[in-house]
Amino acid sequence: MQTIRINDTTLRDGEQAAGVAFTLEEKIAIAALLDSMGVQELEVGIPAMGAPEQEAISAINRLGLKADLIGWNRAVRGDVAHSLSCGLQRAHISIPVSPIQIEVKFQGDIAKMLRQLRDTVNFAKDQGLFVALGGEDSSRADPNFLLELLQQAQTWGVSRFRFCDTVGILDPFGTYQQVQRLVQNLTIPVEMHTHNDFGLATANSLAGIKAGATSVNTTVNGLGERAGNAALEEIVMALKQIYGIKLGIDTSRLKELSQLVSRASGNHLPPWKAIVGENAFAHESGIHSAGVLKNPQTYEPFAPEMVGGERRLVAGKHSGRRFIETLLVSQGIILSPEALQSLLESVRRCSMEVKRNLTSEEVLNLAYQRELTYAN
Ligand code: MN
Repeated sequence: MQTIRINDTTLRDGEQAAGVAFTLEEKIAIAALLDSMGVQELEVGIPAMGAPEQEAISAINRLGLKADLIGWNRAVRGDVAHSLSCGLQRAHISIPVSPIQIEVKFQGDIAKMLRQLRDTVNFAKDQGLFVALGGEDSSRADPNFLLELLQQAQTWGVSRFRFCDTVGILDPFGTYQQVQRLVQNLTIPVEMHTHNDFGLATANSLAGIKAGATSVNTTVNGLGERAGNAALEEIVMALKQIYGIKLGIDTSRLKELSQLVSRASGNHLPPWKAIVGENAFAHESGIHSAGVLKNPQTYEPFAPEMVGGERRLVAGKHSGRRFIETLLVSQGIILSPEALQSLLESVRRCSMEVKRNLTSEEVLNLAYQRELTYAN
């Protein structure tokens, strides 16, 4: 399979999540970590938003990162001028392409929309910028209209097209069809930008890649507008583990990256969050814990160390004898089969009462209430 480029937009679409505002220091820390992990491209913000955003983008630009930096612009010269003043060499120029978006933003005047886009692309190209075109609401655009527009845009020197499922209404099968048609009829690479309104953002981006897209716009933790975007950690690990694609990204820092963005965004992740959630490698049930104790691969898709995570075997309502016994043996404690069974019942009962896992200390305390034999 082809080389895939990750273009992370945590600092742009991620920050557009309701209630999220990164400080300058947080933006710099996020950009620097993404870069040091080997993420190839960063969408660093919207230069036209004003002075604080411009200062942050300029500061990131001055870090001299290896990653390519791109700014998000509307199809107006002024936006591109702000990108230039931040020192950026790459401009993403977004244009609405669905009937509803063209109606709301251009009063349905397609000719005006095309003139404005062409003018802005020409301006950006004249300034020597790499120009990527974003089709806002591509998934609801007329496919013929979109293809014709893009075939024109190619002749203007646009270097990449971003297919945006702006309101997250596609499924992987529909995504595949729409993206494949574009890939087959365009010479420029296609980038995926998918939203998670139906929980399909990652699946849809992968479908786009299967259809020939070669770049994905991700956010750490899936942060972003409404239900968020395709999560960087999910896309990276799926490409690596399911498709066997080498991205050159240090995945062992994914958990650290997730925690950094979680703190900066003020959002706690659900424990079951794929790849980086607290429970992503936690095992409670008796059958699973016993299996993992013999061979972790029994119930893990890959080793937690690959993403900087930790395997946790925890005591709770669903625990079995094997895990409790192993926990005791690790403390040099041996229980008779009867005592072990009664301890297991206590562990289950206590866990139900407190509605959480018991700590190892709590399990040991329950054990000490029984007749113990200490191994030497
Ligand atoms: Mn978006």
